[in-house]
Amino acid sequence: MRYNVYSDYLKRRYGEKVYKLPISLPVTCPNRDGTCGTNGCVFCGEIGAGYENLPASMTVSMQIAANRAHIAPKYKAKKYIPYFQNFSNTYLPALQLEQYLLEACQDDIVGIAIATRPDCINDQYLEVMARVAATKNVDISVELGLQTVNYHTLQKIQRGHGLGEFIDAVLRLKKYNIEVCTHLILNLPWDDMVDVVESAKVLSALAVNQVKLHALYIVKGTVMANWYQDQLFEIISKEEYVVRVVEFLEHLHPDIVVQRLIGRAPEKNTLFTNWQTGWWKIRDAIEGLLEERNTCQGEKCNYLNGSAVRKFL
Ligand code: SF4
Repeated sequence: MRYNVYSDYLKRRYGEKVYKLPISLPVTCPNRDGTCGTNGCVFCGEIGAGYENLPASMTVSMQIAANRAHIAPKYKAKKYIPYFQNFSNTYLPALQLEQYLLEACQDDIVGIAIATRPDCINDQYLEVMARVAATKNVDISVELGLQTVNYHTLQKIQRGHGLGEFIDAVLRLKKYNIEVCTHLILNLPWDDMVDVVESAKVLSALAVNQVKLHALYIVKGTVMANWYQDQLFEIISKEEYVVRVVEFLEHLHPDIVVQRLIGRAPEKNTLFTNWQTGWWKIRDAIEGLLEERNTCQGEKCNYLNGSAVRKFL
C-alpha cells in the first residue's frame, strides 16, 4: 500500500486480524458540562461520536460480550480492542477509569483504545494506564481529538482547548510509553492546504503513533448546522478533500499508522455527510490519486531534523 494501513499494522503486531469493539462509558465532556464550555464543539451532536454504540447503562463486560457475539461468528474474530469511544473517556476519577480498564482486560483482549480530549490527560491518569498495561499485558492507546492545528479554527469551532494542550498531552503520553492516535478533520471551513500540511508536520514532529482522518459532517441541531443553513460557510468539494488527504499523507512521517482516510458517518440526523456518497468511494479516490501521482506517505517528509543545514553534511 502507498500508506501505512492500520489493519496491516494490527496484523503485523498481533499476528492476525484484530477487531475494535465500541464501548460507551457513563461520561460526559468538560466542553459540555460547563468546565470549558456548555454547548460542546460546534459540530458535536447530542450523542457524541458513538452513534453505533450500546448504551452506557450496560457494563463494560456486557458491552464486550454483546459486541463479541455479533462480530465473532461473522468474521471468525479471535482478538479484540475495546474502544472507549463516546465523549471524553478520561473525564472521570482516575480510579474509576482503572476499574473500567481492568474490567475490559479479558483473555481475547489485546489492547484498549481510549478516546478523550487533550485537556483530560494528566500524570495520574497516565500512571493508571501504564499500571494496567503492565500488569495485564495489554496495549493501551489514547485517541486525542484535535481536529486541526490551526488554533484560530480551534477557537471558531469552540473546542475549549488550543494547540498547546494537545502538545502537552502527547509529550506526557510519550513519557509513559502510551501510544497516541490523533483525530483530524481535514476540511474544516476555515482551514486551507497550509493548515493541512502543517497538521501533518506537527504530528510527524511529535511522533504520534497513529492518525484518524475525517471529513466534516453536519449533524442536525448543532451550532454548525445553524451556520450551514444560514450559509455562513461552504464545504469544499469531494475532489478537493481527496487532494488534501494526499498532500497530508505525502507530508506525514511514514512510520505513523493511518487508521482512517475518511469517517463513516451516518446519514440519519445529518444535513451533510461525505458528499452523500459512500466512504469507501472516497477512500478509493484517495488511493487512486496516490497511484496516479505515483506518490506515497512520507514522500514530502523532508522537513525534520534541520533540513536547511543538510547541504553541509
Ligand atoms: S470534545 Fe468531543 S465530546 Fe466534547 S463536545 Fe467536542 S466533540 Fe463533543
